[in-house]
Amino acid sequence: MSKDLYIVATPIGNLEDITLRALRVLREADLIACEDTRQTRKLLDHYGIAKPVTSYHDHNEAERAAELIERMERGESIALVSDAGTPLISDPGYRLVAAAIAAGITVVPIPGPSAVMGALVAAGLATDSFRFCGFLPPKTSQRRKVLEEWKQESGTLVFYEAPHRILETLEDIAAVMRTRPIVIARELTKLHEEFLRGTAEELRATLAARPSVKGEITLLIGKAEHPEPDATPLEEAIRALEAGGVSRMDAIKQVAKARGLSKREVYKLTL
Ligand code: SAM
Repeated sequence: MSKDLYIVATPIGNLEDITLRALRVLREADLIACEDTRQTRKLLDHYGIAKPVTSYHDHNEAERAAELIERMERGESIALVSDAGTPLISDPGYRLVAAAIAAGITVVPIPGPSAVMGALVAAGLATDSFRFCGFLPPKTSQRRKVLEEWKQESGTLVFYEAPHRILETLEDIAAVMRTRPIVIARELTKLHEEFLRGTAEELRATLAARPSVKGEITLLIGKAEHPEPDATPLEEAIRALEAGGVSRMDAIKQVAKARGLSKREVYKLTL
């Protein structure tokens, strides 16, 4: 293999979820950079791969990136993996990729599992447009502020969330986006994989009734139900206002307010 940097996706639970190409790259790379060497060793041992590993995580990213670039410049190939899923997706690696590109090193993606994709494709929410929002802030006030901002988005929202915060987060979602369809994707690809669907309030009640909430969670918020999915009546309503002397912008604003939609949604629906 050439001195490239390979960004290799690894399983998010089920060890069978790894591509043939990922296994070949891990076998052939000179060095594997990973978050937790013990975690990655488990995967490598499972597949009988004996390769040197080095730690690359949030706390040593800056200095370690420089060392790894130097090694690739000397002709070594490096595979970057995270503890689970796709590196750089709420995981370290961005700094290394940016530095490699700046140094003229080729960066090769080896796609595979990521919780965001696994959750999205089985959630049953719209997939034509979605926004991956990473982790929500840990404090309620900040979280509500961020949720208010995301509320304006027209697509499905996908978050990573910790099990010990999920009840509070659902409470905040209920306060900000009460009627939205919510999906909790828990323990994807693992023995206790489950999808819970309902409003934030309903899911909060379901989880609160359990002795504890454990496991890894990806949380999805569906788009607002459009009371008027057909664009024609919306356009008619706007035209009626325009005929009465209201500007198009104001007409869109008024119709949006009356239908509980954002201006942007009305604008898009009438295009
Ligand atoms: N880079 C990873 C990826 O591509 O999925 C994500 C890393 S992020 C630090 C870890 C978070 O991803 C977890 O806290 C959880 O929210 C989500 N996650 C990871 N594995 C999951 C799983 N098996 N089921 C549901 N969510 C998962």
